[in-house]
Amino acid sequence: MAKFHLELIRQLLHHYLSNYKKNVENKSGQTNPLRLTGRHFMSLYTNEATKRKNPLRKCVVCTKNDKRRESRYQCKICDVGLCATPCFEKYHTQYHY
Ligand SMILES: [Zn+2]
Ligand SMILES: [Zn+2]
Repeated sequence: MAKFHLELIRQLLHHYLSNYKKNVENKSGQTNPLRLTGRHFMSLYTNEATKRKNPLRKCVVCTKNDKRRESRYQCKICDVGLCATPCFEKYHTQYHY
């Protein structure tokens, strides 16, 4: 009987942990659910607010990887700045970029 209980607890724990992991992953993906689906096009970043001719936008992929890089390109669908390569592709194809 004790063995049976132990197995039950183990299963519950496993169930709980895998659910917990799922929730955490969902949360991190919640920032932009459309990121990995749909069509995304690279476009030149323009900003009416700044008088600069070639405004730069912070690349979100580089920022997340502790790099400071700014790009002239962005994804309009996601509304984020991205380096032309490799960050644009990385951002749209990899869950963890
Ligand atoms: Zn996009
Ligand atoms: Zn980048």
